[in-house]
Amino acid sequence: MRCFNVRLITFAVMTAAIKSAAAQAAIPLVDIKSVDPTILVELRYAGRHNLTGHPLYPPGTLALSRPEVASCLAVAQAFLRRYQYRLKIWDAYRPSSVQVKLWQASHNNDYVADPETGAGSLHSWGVAVDATLIDTWNRPVSMPTDFDDFTPAAMWHYVGADPAIRSHLHLLQRTMRDAGFYGLRTEWWHFTIADWQKYLPPERAKRAAQVFGTHWQGKL
Ligand SMILES: [Zn+2]
Repeated sequence: MRCFNVRLITFAVMTAAIKSAAAQAAIPLVDIKSVDPTILVELRYAGRHNLTGHPLYPPGTLALSRPEVASCLAVAQAFLRRYQYRLKIWDAYRPSSVQVKLWQASHNNDYVADPETGAGSLHSWGVAVDATLIDTWNRPVSMPTDFDDFTPAAMWHYVGADPAIRSHLHLLQRTMRDAGFYGLRTEWWHFTIADWQKYLPPERAKRAAQVFGTHWQGKL
């Protein structure tokens, strides 16, 4: 994908938090903001405003992803800025320990990936992000739903009547697609790097593909 040669990722800026997370995950991770500081980060699991009602990440948690994902996000951000919009990241790399807590809190097999099944959540491999649009003044723009809204309104295909929401969603989807991401049928905010399978151990990728079925049937 073209985004991979957009810029050189430097690992020199890794913080202790990244090293800790990377050691836990045994995968390379970068701070997304170190690749593009203009991307806004608001990790919903770092506060109470999430489906569990309490913070799941320690204070100061960074939005981490594989370097290839961060590079593609920078491409998306550059495109959006032409139209006076930007990306806001709601979640990125998610440790398996947090996925277990989400699974326990929800037990909603339709939306939350069972950490013991397939590859678990692709967030835990650093290959998926949850993202929305904001305007150039970092203000939210109208989108179909809030984060982790597990209702039909959160489906990828917007069926509402608001032309502004339709326009914003279309811009986000088109931008992320062109930057090298797949979307998810049930969650408009969830994006996975298109070649995610190559970043998982072959056996895990195979099991994940069997669970997901298609690119559109992965889970949170
Ligand atoms: Zn997600």
